Amino acid sequence: MPNGKVVFSIQTNGTLFNKKNLEILKKNEVRIGISIDGSKEKHDKYRVYHNGNGSYDDILKGLNLVRNIAPDLLDSTLQVIDPKVSPASVLKNLEVLGIERTDLLFPDLNHDTIKNANIIPGEIGNWLIHVFKIWINQENAVHIRIFLTIINLLLGGKNGTDQLGAESIGTIMIETDGSYQVYDGLKTSFSGAGVTQMNVQDSTIESTDSLPLTKAFRNKATYASAICLNCELFRVCGGGNPIHRYSENKKFDQPSVYCEDLKLIINHIKSYILSVRPNLELVC
Ligand code: SF4
Repeated sequence: MPNGKVVFSIQTNGTLFNKKNLEILKKNEVRIGISIDGSKEKHDKYRVYHNGNGSYDDILKGLNLVRNIAPDLLDSTLQVIDPKVSPASVLKNLEVLGIERTDLLFPDLNHDTIKNANIIPGEIGNWLIHVFKIWINQENAVHIRIFLTIINLLLGGKNGTDQLGAESIGTIMIETDGSYQVYDGLKTSFSGAGVTQMNVQDSTIESTDSLPLTKAFRNKATYASAICLNCELFRVCGGGNPIHRYSENKKFDQPSVYCEDLKLIINHIKSYILSVRPNLELVC
């Protein structure tokens, strides 16, 4: 809710878009985010229908329909980071698809689930540095939210995202049954996490603003561990996405599973800024 104004957006793979439902979104000024994981080969490996077929081609159809019917509402695409995929190919694919805005998301893993994920600490951070090095030198570069957010926060900006920053814009999810969820990714922590007893039928969106968990997501220091609160990068990192701090044993009271990666990419961008603007004062 920036400046007290509620902005509605839908995050979807877009496979069910048609002219009729897009007209409804357009009429109600609902912004659209589309999840698409890189190339067709990679996307179809992980995002499949019940029959095992990949959804990439249908997502492209949905994306093109939005471009034709409601281009102004197209917010950005989201893709989950896969450090095994070449950084250059990720950027190339965005160019081929004509995507102008995207975000690269850390996989929804926590201290319990990362053990089976075959991800080495620092692997994603080094991968992001590689993407950044290509991206920063591109003409007409795509808007990549994770990089722009780090730059903005280093320069003293306040509003982070779920993934970054000590403070972020308040977000509340509305499930298809009308119930409010604090943040849908919290489901990856434990059953019922993020559930509220509030529903659009009986509660205004504004009233969800006072829920302790909503406040905690806006002000990440609320549940951050002492290690994060004492970390010099906290104003930019915010301890990462709270769901990445979780384990059954310690709950949210520890740094992110991506601590090493966050340090790598934030420090790299910090060094880059100082190399081109040595006199700038950064927040950390
Ligand atoms: S997650 Fe790591 S880098 Fe981020 S604030 Fe905590 S200790 Fe610092």
